[in-house]
Amino acid sequence: SLFIGGSIAGLAEVYTNLQKSIGATEHLLEILDEPTEDLAPFNEIKRENIVDGQISFRDVTFAYPSRPDLTILDKVSFDVYPDQKVALVGPSGGGKSTIVSLLLRIYDPVSGSVYFDGRKSDSIPLSQLRSQLAIVPQDVFLFGGTIAENISYGKPGATEAELIEAAKQANAWEFIQRFPDGMNTIVGERGVQLSGGQRQRIAIARAVLKNPRILILDEATSALDAESERLVQDALDKLMAGRTSIVIAHRLSTIREADKIIVLDKGAIIEEGTHGELVEQEGLYRMLSNMQFQSN
Ligand code: ADP
Ligand code: MG
Repeated sequence: SLFIGGSIAGLAEVYTNLQKSIGATEHLLEILDEPTEDLAPFNEIKRENIVDGQISFRDVTFAYPSRPDLTILDKVSFDVYPDQKVALVGPSGGGKSTIVSLLLRIYDPVSGSVYFDGRKSDSIPLSQLRSQLAIVPQDVFLFGGTIAENISYGKPGATEAELIEAAKQANAWEFIQRFPDGMNTIVGERGVQLSGGQRQRIAIARAVLKNPRILILDEATSALDAESERLVQDALDKLMAGRTSIVIAHRLSTIREADKIIVLDKGAIIEEGTHGELVEQEGLYRMLSNMQFQSN
């Protein structure tokens, strides 16, 4: 990882956080930006990048190495076509984050396969695969450094103009600009404290700058004030346009327009369809949907 002007303390902070958040998406964010070493014989494979952004899971079965006897995903199959927005929903522990780990190849399936653009994921050089994926996590971790450093994390060497453009697209430039030091404002423990919504917009700016083919969103549960929520949602909508996106949805109201909703329960897909299709059938989605829309 790159820490521009980064301190050892900052580095230590990152690793402490990494350890604390095994399994959390902020951990995945770090992994995405870490340099990767590709193993032979990938050199022999023609290096063409993920261009279409199509994802397929085929009979993916998975257990974590620490508990090989415990099946976490059981023959999971689904397709995400280029530029589609697909939502993963379902009870906690159902396997949503595990699917994200398999997409990033933090783990590989025990059986079955994951494909990108029809290529088996383990035949794609890791650095190439991860260069085309970005994650906007639920709880954004910023390391102690400037806003500029935090945004350029995924694309070292970005120009100031690029950073500002990314911040604008992420609805972050307005608040950044108001700090006396602008982009050079120090954030984190020894700098200014940003709100959850502001941190999330920094993460969106990072993803804008990275410009990946595939986007993974771990949607915020709540905790954002209405104004912040509107700005974050607006920035996310812009970011998702023209890319394939997978959204782990907590609030069903934000995924009503998804091309496809996949309902996962105990490691298996139990329902799949659009919002309209799923509320027509008597199942978990309809139940969750009724509960959420009543309480709002
Ligand atoms: P969700 O994101 O839908 O809440 P997860 O994919 O996080 O579900 O978890 C699915 C199951 O895998 C849970 O039973 C969880 O306890 C287990 N699990 C998650 N991460 C690990 C891990 N690193 N090691 C072992 N088990 C894990
Ligand atoms: Mg999860």
